[in-house]
Amino acid sequence: MKKDFKNNLDIIKKIYLTLVFPRTAKNLAMDQILFRRRTPFPRIITMFITNKCNLSCEGCLNAEYRNKNITEEQVTLDHIKKILPELKKYKPMFYITGGEALINKHTFDIINLLSKNGIITAMSTNGFFLTENVDKILNSDLNFLSVSLDYYKKDVHNKIKGNNPEIFDRAISGLKDLISKRNGMKKLSFNIKINTVARKENYNELLKIYKFVENLGVDELCVQHYSFHTPSIKKTIDGFKEKTGIGEYCDGALIDEDYYLSPGKAEKLESELKKIYAMAANGKTKLSEKPAIDSLGKYYSGEFPNKDSFCLSPLNSMNILGNGDVCLCLGNKIGYLDGDVSLKEMWNSKESKKFQKKIIKEKFLPPCFGCHSLNYKYNN
Ligand code: SF4
Repeated sequence: MKKDFKNNLDIIKKIYLTLVFPRTAKNLAMDQILFRRRTPFPRIITMFITNKCNLSCEGCLNAEYRNKNITEEQVTLDHIKKILPELKKYKPMFYITGGEALINKHTFDIINLLSKNGIITAMSTNGFFLTENVDKILNSDLNFLSVSLDYYKKDVHNKIKGNNPEIFDRAISGLKDLISKRNGMKKLSFNIKINTVARKENYNELLKIYKFVENLGVDELCVQHYSFHTPSIKKTIDGFKEKTGIGEYCDGALIDEDYYLSPGKAEKLESELKKIYAMAANGKTKLSEKPAIDSLGKYYSGEFPNKDSFCLSPLNSMNILGNGDVCLCLGNKIGYLDGDVSLKEMWNSKESKKFQKKIIKEKFLPPCFGCHSLNYKYNN
């Protein structure tokens, strides 16, 4: 009964989103059919609307750039207005992240402008400023919200989040308020997801985390695999970067052992995930994983995947960094937001096509190790 209700609700939500965003739905359907092609315009645009962050989480991949050369409102409504005609025409999904997205005081103006123009919006947050923004979130037309939560108890979560004493309580109280008000409003086009990074502190307790977030009433739990580099991976990547200039911002947290999770721990993680998938099939909260990896043991041992691995991101997505650089992946600059060149021109530029051809030919490159966009294949 519970399963039927959940399936029906999922279908209703999908139909609703298709009706409200027909062009985006059509693009996504075409992409499923014409798999692994270069799309005419990016289907997903990720914008790092500020580099500023109030936390300093362990293993943060933006640590090097966080809080550097920034103002609180690095991306403003004017930047968005400049690219709005193209966004309106091509209807990509627009994903807002940071730094901490809720620090930028233009965030909701940006979301509302995009939504008003028929663009699907998503935002991720560390949850610290959720409580004070609950009403703004619900009064906006934001479609997808991701909140970071790495543990179900405050001591461990607070430690992972850079020993911040308030983050767990603030995120949970914000989530509770958000979910209860959202349910009262019956908002069909608003999905709440928890992102949990699988790591040493939680790899064998993900089931407890799932039950905890299901209890809160979130729609989805996404288990993200830890992005790390061993010294030998780093050496390979650095050599490649030096030779080609590709992969400037593609970093993983540097670990000093040979593996992040031992084979036995990776096996335990796999078995936790299996249990959660079984539970999620009948539960209120969906489970997803990012990236897709067909052998967690090999991934966590720091093994490079085989050439059946592939990434669609440079073929269908564009990133706009906090400093205005427009990139494929994180380090392949194809333009600048304040320049006179349009996003479409950047997408079709010589640099862009050259990199896309390289990815089509080589499937993935050394700096891809640890990236969440790669589909990791180890087993043929
Ligand atoms: S996997 Fe590689 S090609 Fe794909 S987005 Fe990541 S760094 Fe870019």
